[in-house]
Amino acid sequence: MNDNQLERYCRQMIVSGFDIEGQELLSNSTVLIIGMGGLGCPAAQYLASSGVGKLILADYDTIELSNLPRQILYTENDINKNKAEVAKQRLLLSNPNIQIKTITQKLDKKSLQPYIAKADIVLDCTDSFDSRFAANQSCLLAKTPLVFGAAIRMQGQIAVFDFRYEESSCLGCLYDKNSCSEDSCLYSGIIGPITGVIGSMMALAAIQLIVGNYNLQAFNSKLLLFDAKNWSWNKVALTKNQHCNECSGIVHNLEKTTS
Ligand SMILES: [Zn+2]
Repeated sequence: MNDNQLERYCRQMIVSGFDIEGQELLSNSTVLIIGMGGLGCPAAQYLASSGVGKLILADYDTIELSNLPRQILYTENDINKNKAEVAKQRLLLSNPNIQIKTITQKLDKKSLQPYIAKADIVLDCTDSFDSRFAANQSCLLAKTPLVFGAAIRMQGQIAVFDFRYEESSCLGCLYDKNSCSEDSCLYSGIIGPITGVIGSMMALAAIQLIVGNYNLQAFNSKLLLFDAKNWSWNKVALTKNQHCNECSGIVHNLEKTTS
């Protein structure tokens, strides 16, 4: 670690349980962020600033004026440009020590798998249930920890599914794929800072998964529900559904790659 990095990261390295070893773990890690909208922007900003060595940003969408209240990496000058590409430029201004790769085509379950195989942690920041279940299934196969986040109107939720542990539940244990509606912020609205709260929590969860400073029992397969109207957080323990269409009888057969 050079002098610039020692000075840059000193406040997090003096936190007990994080230390210089935690910083080195971060710099040797790869995080895949699927969706660079309201959740992906703050999540990527914190992960880049914290010194995660490699980020893979996936978004095929372009920036619109109505995105700007919550997608805080973008400006009016970026309208009609690809989100992942603009995000990469902004994040490298803040921290040029890291590597950022972008994926600008639409991903399905098959095309997603090679990227998930390269990632240590995956953040599901999309607003489409098809993409969410594709990420869930690919992470299950690769045994890659998945951080799920969602935000709508005045509410948000976040869950960590650490698939390195067989007993972890998955998105399919939480939601039935066949009865999910696309209740996205496109139709239902969203207050910008809600995505900031949940996106920041997702970045925190990724850092904790990498560094290992968390209580596994309190953290894995737990759903945190944020209700801004009632100013409340609730935590729900998720149990693995033995009849889950997504995770029951899964075969763990994807090899990790290092590039
Ligand atoms: Zn499941």
